[in-house]
Amino acid sequence: YKNNIIRNQSNLLLKEKNAELQIAKEKAEKASKARAEFLSTVSHELRTPLNAINGITHLLLEENPKESQMNYLTSLKFSGNYLLTFINEILEINRIESSAIETENINFNLKLLLGNIQQSLKELASINNNAFTIEIDPNIPDFLIGDPTKLSQIFLNLINNALKFTKNGEVRVLLTTNEINEEFTSIHFEVLDTGIGIPEEKIETVFDSFAQGSIEINRKYGGTGLGLTIVKKLVEIMGGKIKLESVVGKGSSFTFDLSFKIGIDAAAQEKMAFD
Ligand code: ADP
Repeated sequence: YKNNIIRNQSNLLLKEKNAELQIAKEKAEKASKARAEFLSTVSHELRTPLNAINGITHLLLEENPKESQMNYLTSLKFSGNYLLTFINEILEINRIESSAIETENINFNLKLLLGNIQQSLKELASINNNAFTIEIDPNIPDFLIGDPTKLSQIFLNLINNALKFTKNGEVRVLLTTNEINEEFTSIHFEVLDTGIGIPEEKIETVFDSFAQGSIEINRKYGGTGLGLTIVKKLVEIMGGKIKLESVVGKGSSFTFDLSFKIGIDAAAQEKMAFD
């Protein structure tokens, strides 16, 4: 009888504890949702006037300003662009963290996607006099099923960094297959550079929000410290894990593995059906 009482009491305590935990969890979820909504509203509200400021700066720069005005406008353009990138990145992190983001599963042409990325970053590569190549294992099918937008975002961020932190060097993007069968393929992605490298003690933290190599690096290279946070989260959402190896003065290598269902070349199939 005594044992029964004790058991009932401890059951009651357990129930109370669970109820408390549940309330705390709901409170935390509400707070996090409110924070996400607040951030989203503020960012959107900031972005609209900023777009106007940037647009007008652009127009004024095209009107052959005097040299002194040109300097002011160039500085305005730089700051405006920085703020816009920053706001966009905050919005992106917020979207990812509030799990309002899902992966898409669409048929896309991987080679075309990488070709477009290479084209869009060509100028940046030449500014720092870097050789920039993309090498794709011929066993990788052209068409995959997955999320091309997220994959592009990952590459743009990683390659942008690689090109930014490398001068007179080399930036290579390498894609190899780990495994391939009729339906699936697992791909090993690597973005490597021969740039300034990242000190060993920073390797863990560079993926944290607002983490930057050092104040000097930030002053010299600019940036927001959010790019790698976004990359890490996007790779995880797609089912992978990003790894970083780096040696100061030698360069850095970012790698991750992702699996894809093999897609179809719709145009080729249509043509075959036609023939
Ligand atoms: P940022 O906008 O500052 O580039 P990131 O999150 O993309 O922000 O990168 C964080 C920091 O990691 C950078 O400020 C830089 O110090 C370091 N970093 C990132 N990529 C590289 C790279 N390829 N080579 C050297 N340092 C890098």
